[in-house]
Amino acid sequence: MLASELMLFPDGPLRPGWVRIEGGVLTEVAESAPPAEADAVEGILAPGFVDVHCHGGAGAAFDDGPEAAETARQVHLAHGTTTMLASLVSDDPDRLLNTVQALVPLVHDGRFAGVHLEGPWLSPQRAGAHDPDLLSAPGARELEMLLATGVVEMVTLAPELPGGIEAIRRIADAGAVPAVGHTDATYEQTREALAAGARAATHLFNGMRGLQHREPGPAAAMMEDGEALLELIADGVHVHPAMLSWVHRSAPGRCLLITDAMSATGGCDGDYRLGRLDVRVEGGVPRLVDTGSIAGSTLTMDRAVRVAVTEAGFSREDALRAASAVPAALLRRQDVGQLTRGARADLIVLDHQLQVNRVLRAGTEVS
Ligand SMILES: [Zn+2]
Repeated sequence: MLASELMLFPDGPLRPGWVRIEGGVLTEVAESAPPAEADAVEGILAPGFVDVHCHGGAGAAFDDGPEAAETARQVHLAHGTTTMLASLVSDDPDRLLNTVQALVPLVHDGRFAGVHLEGPWLSPQRAGAHDPDLLSAPGARELEMLLATGVVEMVTLAPELPGGIEAIRRIADAGAVPAVGHTDATYEQTREALAAGARAATHLFNGMRGLQHREPGPAAAMMEDGEALLELIADGVHVHPAMLSWVHRSAPGRCLLITDAMSATGGCDGDYRLGRLDVRVEGGVPRLVDTGSIAGSTLTMDRAVRVAVTEAGFSREDALRAASAVPAALLRRQDVGQLTRGARADLIVLDHQLQVNRVLRAGTEVS
């Protein structure tokens, strides 16, 4: 049983509350005075973070097999991420299928909530840190084979590619999240994608046609849609804090923080790889050696929350929900991302500077 003066409920401000943990689940969540036996924590008691867009950490990437995936997962878990998708960068469809299949056991045993395919169906004009040689238009057969693994929960694609809209329909029908990203789509094409079932913008503004007064592009279409959720990389580098703040005010409750973290996360500056491309990390910012394009981040979710609060004017509640309840809603998961009765006992304790001091996953303390 844990109690705090500052607990994050699904709604409203941080306020006193307590939870009872039994069998890895929250069996009671209450606002009343805590029972005497409750362990009163110092700081904010919040649900564990949910990261739907992360590529790795600790020198390891999710593309490199189960062992590497577990190594990377541990870094993010230590920073409070208790639910995550394994995001995979663009690859040749056969190799990609093998990579996904290798991760199936880690999804079945609950370590990952699924796989996020970021590519290979991306625009060569907006490839960012994806190898342009590996990009293609979506093929119905390869899509079916990937969906048949049963673990693909999210697919980022460029809707303007031939077959893009049909692919979005198929992904939505399969119960996964179609996300618009790495795209040169126009405003109109993006609206078509939304009508076909697209539910999220992959790292809004990054890797997409820009926002312009005569050509509003994908960002405006996604922002004006009342339902679409908007991924933000809140490291203060990918998106100017003023834009983070503006999106947050314009689309309340629809922003979700992601890390887009690559293998260098939790490590030092130096040389790394993203897929097959060489990346150099300087001052914590990874860039492709060849083109200088930003190649993911070295964020952890707790730092994204801190940047959102200190640089972009999010309230602590909004930043914490953007890192938990909103991404959980994107995945249509009711058992994670919120402190509610029946949810998995994924809890974090943050100090007043929003540093994560304790992490519990399914009721078990993570060291
Ligand atoms: Zn990306």
